Amino acid sequence: MTSKTAPALERFFMHVDGKDREAVDGGWLETKNPYTGKPWALIPRASAADVDLAVRAAHEAFSSGPWSRMSASDRGVLMFRLADLIAANAERLADLEVRDNGKLRVEMLGQMRYLPRWFQYYGGLADKIEGHVTPIDKANMFHYVAYEPLGVVGAITPWNSPLLLTVWKLAPALAAGNTVVVKPSEFASVSMLELAKLFTQAGFPPGVVNVVTGLGQEAGEPLVEHPLVARIAFTGGNAGGRRIYEAAARQFKRVSLELGGKSPNIVFADADIDAAVKGVISGIFAAGGQTCMAGSRLLLQASIHDRFLDKLVERMREARLGDPNDPETDIGPVATEQQLAKVLDYIEIARRDGARCVLGGERSTRPGCTQGWFVEPTIFAGVTNTMRIAREEVFGPLLSVLSFETEEEAIALANDTPFGLAAGVWTTDLGRAMTLPKKLKAGTVWVNAYRVVSYLAPFGGFKESGIGRENGQAAIMEYLEPKSVFIN
Ligand code: NAD
Repeated sequence: MTSKTAPALERFFMHVDGKDREAVDGGWLETKNPYTGKPWALIPRASAADVDLAVRAAHEAFSSGPWSRMSASDRGVLMFRLADLIAANAERLADLEVRDNGKLRVEMLGQMRYLPRWFQYYGGLADKIEGHVTPIDKANMFHYVAYEPLGVVGAITPWNSPLLLTVWKLAPALAAGNTVVVKPSEFASVSMLELAKLFTQAGFPPGVVNVVTGLGQEAGEPLVEHPLVARIAFTGGNAGGRRIYEAAARQFKRVSLELGGKSPNIVFADADIDAAVKGVISGIFAAGGQTCMAGSRLLLQASIHDRFLDKLVERMREARLGDPNDPETDIGPVATEQQLAKVLDYIEIARRDGARCVLGGERSTRPGCTQGWFVEPTIFAGVTNTMRIAREEVFGPLLSVLSFETEEEAIALANDTPFGLAAGVWTTDLGRAMTLPKKLKAGTVWVNAYRVVSYLAPFGGFKESGIGRENGQAAIMEYLEPKSVFIN
């Protein structure tokens, strides 16, 4: 790994009890740059022993450290300070994320610049969680409800938007007074290791935020199973999510799961076609399809099907693949070698299932794209809702196009999926814009927009897309336990 000929890889450290740490058994994992296909850094490969140290530190901080005595207002002030530090470090954090997951710098920088809002919003909310007195129906009794933090929260997160999706958990969990152990994705941990330092700079006491890095089975599972962890907040794939849900159930642990999707983007004949083409492209191709909310099923009304598809293909032929740091690049590489193989597999499956490839359909051979993990933006037409590319999450730049005649048919197709994360509707009909969201079984519906999120707006899935909601006021309640007190 660190021979004399190869340049030494930069090492990053875990953050446990306010200190930098290597793994107890000295193991390291390489983290690779998807644009070059080469390793660029080393992160500690944690095991159950490291997780135990981190959870114990978090438990100590929660039960007897300075954090446990801090007022909610003071917690808020720390979060405001952290927000300022993130804003000052946004460029550097974005650079690290691009190196780890290959997504466009413009997107990662946009996310980093947006992160402070989460700490400002939930920092402001910290001292506004009020209990209440009930008009209890018992003579000589006083009754009130108070909201208490749960304890240690384990946050397990994916590589596609590493810090954004972690902050969705950290901000409400900390505002509510919990402490946290984060296990970021083994493919994109570095930005979280750097963010941990900013928590210390902002003045968070040791043990309040800890980060352990490593593999799902070696570091993630022990975190889920640790008896001192009260709640697991997970974002990731459905296979991991199912295992975590089962393991958490054995200890009746609180969980939230933000899982996958196969979200429909529905374009009606009355839509503003140019706007819809742009929205469809940003819904699936902007992040190389590597977003849980990707609009990976395009449902086109039959009367505009051919015209729309031609425009879409024509636009996508002009898309530039390449260096994610280059502002001229439209599409970067996929994030991991495993993802590359998976997307190429699905392209074969789609062909075998009889879908018609109208764009791409192969690993990219463009100049500058052969070392990294690039897939040509791919569109399959003639897809039916029973084909695997219409039912399974690909998580890559692959769009499945289906056709429908009536609104009822569109709704039936849109809802005929095990997932229910998001849906897009493109129409200029006001009645349809108002009535369709109610009929779509998805946690988020956009009308004449796609992939918009906010710290103010609850996000999460129906059906197999998950359990619980992140963002918005309600999310803080996921990190609190109501206590009912009767006094005679
Ligand atoms: P993944 O499930 O492979 O990994 C996510 C995290 O879970 C990683 O940190 C991994 O190490 C850990 N992990 C895996 N198995 C585990 C186990 N058994 N116990 C404990 N931890 C475990 O997902 P990924 O490939 O990193 O991310 C892609 C997936 O995430 C996609 O399916 C995508 O749809 C989903 N996702 C969902 C949302 C959402 O908000 N709904 C957002 C982004 C990504």
